[in-house]
Amino acid sequence: MGVSESGLSGVVAELVGALGVERVITDRQRRRTYECDGLAAYRVIPGVVVLARDADDIAAAVRACARHGVPFVARGSGTGLSGGALPHAEGVLVVMSQMRAIREADVANQRAVVEPGVINLHLTAATSPDGYYFAPDPSSQSVCSIGGNVAENSGGAHCLKYGFTTNHVTGVDLVTPGGELVEIGGKAPDPPGYDLLGALVGSEGTLGIVTAATVRLTRLPQEVRTLLAAFRTMDDAGAATSAIIAAGVVPAAIEMMDALAIEAAEAAVHCGYPAGAGAVLVVELDGPAADVAGEFDDVVRLCEAAGAFEVRVAADDDERALIWKGRKSAFAAVGRISPDYIVQDGVIPRTALPLVLRQIAELGESAGVRVANVFHAGDGNLHPLVLFDGAVEGAVDRAEAVAGGILDLCLEHGGSITGEHGVGADKAKHMPRMFTADDLDTMQAVRCAFDPDGISNPGKVFPTPRLCGERPGRHQGAHPLTESGVAEVF
Ligand SMILES: Cc1cc2nc3c(=O)[nH]c(=O)nc-3n(C[C@H](O)[C@H](O)[C@H](O)COP(=O)(O)OP(=O)(O)OC[C@H]3O[C@@H](n4cnc5c(N)ncnc54)[C@H](O)[C@@H]3O)c2cc1C
Repeated sequence: MGVSESGLSGVVAELVGALGVERVITDRQRRRTYECDGLAAYRVIPGVVVLARDADDIAAAVRACARHGVPFVARGSGTGLSGGALPHAEGVLVVMSQMRAIREADVANQRAVVEPGVINLHLTAATSPDGYYFAPDPSSQSVCSIGGNVAENSGGAHCLKYGFTTNHVTGVDLVTPGGELVEIGGKAPDPPGYDLLGALVGSEGTLGIVTAATVRLTRLPQEVRTLLAAFRTMDDAGAATSAIIAAGVVPAAIEMMDALAIEAAEAAVHCGYPAGAGAVLVVELDGPAADVAGEFDDVVRLCEAAGAFEVRVAADDDERALIWKGRKSAFAAVGRISPDYIVQDGVIPRTALPLVLRQIAELGESAGVRVANVFHAGDGNLHPLVLFDGAVEGAVDRAEAVAGGILDLCLEHGGSITGEHGVGADKAKHMPRMFTADDLDTMQAVRCAFDPDGISNPGKVFPTPRLCGERPGRHQGAHPLTESGVAEVF
């Protein structure tokens, strides 16, 4: 559906009438605050911003958009790294940051009902005095919202053992792109009918706006033990990772950093990682104290057998925090050793880690580009940081070529173009490298069932806008939108 300027002004007039001027931001300077998410390379000033207080505000905004054929985009905390919350210049940005109530924390039944803007870590802070927490833990957990976690199916260091957000949500309230308020899933663990919740988690705001979520709470473990193992090479650290998993141990986390990432973290937060390490592993075990003690000894032995020259065991919470501080600060710390960098996100089978890491290094060397690696080794979820100086002629292009080459490697090895940061605006063009046209058409058919007019976060996830009136199926010849110059096929 085409968007006209009068469409947007019609929406603004309706929204000001329904919500009041203070919730509808039209001032250009104030709209500019929302021009990007965590992927600041892409910027678009939204047509108008709505600060939602409740589900009725969201429904009013979406209904007005539906009536006028105007696109809308949901925004949680704006920490996404793939441009998922990138606004539409002629559309409405619906902001969740004022919907931060934990409506119910039912620890006896291990669940909570939260509004979408609730900050991930706030739910853990609210429930940990009773012995519970919210397990999905993105590194952005102190700022990202649970609505954003649901939309991105976010993971984190501990999803090796505890799974991604999808394993911790049993229901959502959703405003569909037509403006209906519906309940998908619920408090029961396995409702009958199609698993629409499965389709919704990770749909990146393309199927509507989540206005509340029912999430699982996890019992705090009796014991947590953390170690730092230092190796001369990435190969040795990769071999230790495989040996730990092969031994049947399921750590809560296995994180790996290479020499460049260690150098950056050391310079930024002085985490005291062993000198001369070519790679470090952070391994965390949790669970009943007796189990953790036995498995911990196994992990130490396996790390040493794989060539660890130092294994440092955290003696208390302070030492544990220092080990994690190095890992968690690594992304930001890279800013100290390079003016610019691209955070890539791809997945490979864990067994391919040593080979792919070598291939990434070769790719960087042949392009004259430095790549730092800091990632979730246990899941095979890579986050190579491709360093460049934007002021140097041609540096951006070289860095982007290396970042794209890394995704090729992930696909060659049977992996994925994104592990946890989502497709968004950034990787939509890569989707056909992973999926056939028929695969994408099937996804598009689901999307069109929710959003026949294509107004819910358009331009994200799917490589080309496809009209919902069209029957799903492979297109013969040039797409009409390509021919008319409206859309590009990647
Ligand atoms: C330093 C840093 C570290 C990070 N570490 C991790 C990590 O370890 N693991 C990981 O998975 N991610 C990580 N991320 C990415 C990001 O934090 C997550 O994707 C997070 O879930 C986004 O939440 P948000 O509230 O900021 O969402 P936003 O960025 O605001 O939005 C993300 C997407 O969700 C949609 N959306 C938001 N709210 C709703 C809603 N209520 N209904 C429907 N759609 C909605 C938006 O339209 C957009 O498509 C990191 C980001 C940063 C900056």
